[in-house]
Amino acid sequence: MEVTRAAWAGFCFGVKRAIELALKARAENTGPFFTLGPLIHNPQVVDFLAGKGIQVIEDLAAAKEGTLIIRSHGVEPEVLAAAQELGLRVVDATCPFVRRAQRLAKDLTEEGYTVVVVGDKNHPEVSGIVGWTGGKAQVVENPEEAARLPEHPRLGVIAQTTQPLSNFEAVVKVLKSRDRVVGEVGNGHGAEVKVFETICHAVAERQQAALELARRVEVMVVVGGYESANTQKLTRICLQTGTPTYHIETADQLKPEWFAGVRAAGLTAGASTPDWIIEEVERRMNELGENAQEEMRAAEVKTLRGGEIVKGVVVEINQGEVLVDVGAKSEGVIPLRELSCFEIASPKEVVSVGDEIDVWVVKAEDSEGRIILSKGRADAEKAWGRLQSAYESQAPVEGTVREVVKGGLIVNLGVRAFLPASLVERGYVEDLSKYVGQQVNCKIIEFNRARKKVVLSRKAVLEEEYRQRRKETLASLEEGAVVRGVIRRLTSFGAFVDIGGIDGLLHVSEISWYRVNHPGEVLNVGDEIEVKVIKVDWENERVSLSRKQVIPNPWDSVAEKYPVNSLVEARVIRLVPFGAFVQLEPGVEGLIHISHFADWHVARPEDVLTEGERITVRVLSVDPAGRRMRLSLREAVREGYGPEGETKMAPEPAGGEDEAAQPVAEAAGEAGEPRDEAHTPPEPAFERAGETGGVNE
Ligand code: SF4
Repeated sequence: MEVTRAAWAGFCFGVKRAIELALKARAENTGPFFTLGPLIHNPQVVDFLAGKGIQVIEDLAAAKEGTLIIRSHGVEPEVLAAAQELGLRVVDATCPFVRRAQRLAKDLTEEGYTVVVVGDKNHPEVSGIVGWTGGKAQVVENPEEAARLPEHPRLGVIAQTTQPLSNFEAVVKVLKSRDRVVGEVGNGHGAEVKVFETICHAVAERQQAALELARRVEVMVVVGGYESANTQKLTRICLQTGTPTYHIETADQLKPEWFAGVRAAGLTAGASTPDWIIEEVERRMNELGENAQEEMRAAEVKTLRGGEIVKGVVVEINQGEVLVDVGAKSEGVIPLRELSCFEIASPKEVVSVGDEIDVWVVKAEDSEGRIILSKGRADAEKAWGRLQSAYESQAPVEGTVREVVKGGLIVNLGVRAFLPASLVERGYVEDLSKYVGQQVNCKIIEFNRARKKVVLSRKAVLEEEYRQRRKETLASLEEGAVVRGVIRRLTSFGAFVDIGGIDGLLHVSEISWYRVNHPGEVLNVGDEIEVKVIKVDWENERVSLSRKQVIPNPWDSVAEKYPVNSLVEARVIRLVPFGAFVQLEPGVEGLIHISHFADWHVARPEDVLTEGERITVRVLSVDPAGRRMRLSLREAVREGYGPEGETKMAPEPAGGEDEAAQPVAEAAGEAGEPRDEAHTPPEPAFERAGETGGVNE
């Protein structure tokens, strides 16, 4: 019996995330742990969590201390406030898709809209969303209820995440027919209506996959909690196809008689069913199917007919053929050419002794009385049926890349399928040979059984995964979160960083604490970096990032590193009429005012210093908050440090040698102080320094 698992089954993204968050928090903290209501509708998982010390409570008052885990449905803000008042630590595992709906509900209410939630009034997720509107939202379950809504000048419509799209659209249509729509759906006349489709497609995907599978198999098994609404719905959907369907919670509830004589069985699971239960059920179904077939085989000696497909076991492998026990009076023979639709050198590339395989009966008896079988044709026959339904449902198919041909790759799907080079990746691929031998997931974009033509697109699968990842990333992004990303593109105004399906913008001013003229000075395409999410525009799906906010600000430690009066090394980076800006380290710049250049009057900074030159200076003052530092070259020179070169000596006065030897400071009668500060420009405000590309970015 062949057991097929539905393309989408088991944990959805939000449930998986909630369990992971709960277990991580449990591992990192001590004390009591609670969930308000079961974390998910699956008794086995609830028992498992209880074993880890995570208890279910129905009333917050039952939690005196410890950690409260908010389940994926989310809660009203009042619950969070009450938990805080009780002194509980809160782990918020609200599904990001639900969180988005809550956020929209809150924002719309604050903007003066009356929020309409399309959903089930009694569902905790809907109660939570209504809570974020201060209880002001209206809940409607269907178009009839929407039609009865009182007139509102401004409506904001959102959906419970598990709403069927058709119901949501029907409600929107009713509201559109009487109101002007300005959100995601069109424009009309009348009152103002904004529409946000906040539906999560995880549930719909599981239902569609279950429906398609149920149509193809003889029996369906649905695994999940009896209390789980989405598992019950899956069972109903499968039953509607007429296929016998059994809803179970665990593998030990499977009954052998369900699989007697069954060749193809299907398996699906609700969004709250963990993988370990699904895998156990799948293993047990395979065992039961095997046993049922063993019994059938033992009971009959087959009479074979040409053109039928039967099961057999490989009993012997020779150089040019394989012998197979098909339960007939004698063993059948598969010639080498009938082993595969691809050319092979030895039968061992395809089968091993003991393998159970499907074979096509080519001749029930040839001229020598032998049974001639074909594995290649049986595989192809099965494959065509499978590929046809995959093509119709657009479900992905998996195969192994066999060879590179002109213009693409040949993939083994039981039949030969062509994957054009342009559809192998999302971008261009130079060398196709690296895919040979790899398993690839593709969608069928062209299917013609009569002409034996199957054309694939791996790009379509990758695009879909990318969109899904993008959606999940966007939904789970929080402003202030620190995430890892890969630099995809550099432009003059910043870098685009892929943070999981979304390219966020890292503006050039957010790259570093010091001035960066072009991102390429600091970053390279392909670099993996840590960034902080500083703004998320959920409506336009734009994310702004900052790198400098996750790296230390050098100004935080300047007071310790460069204390007042210390002598430090610096590099002259820019000369301005009133002095020189010098860099002590990347991001830390200070000003030497022209009056602090020398003990004599300096008319122009370039008479003493040159850009790029390294000098020693004394720190006069440090202002980390204002990112300012005042420095003195003159005082360092007095200690014996100074700029090099003859042109930087004190200029000779016109009056002769004696006067020339006299330091300007002495002539002023005020040793150690600048003689002519009254004639030098005053020290500028540092804001001006920033404008000229200096201290403040
Ligand atoms: S919104 Fe979707 S992903 Fe989130 S918990 Fe519900 S079904 Fe799962």
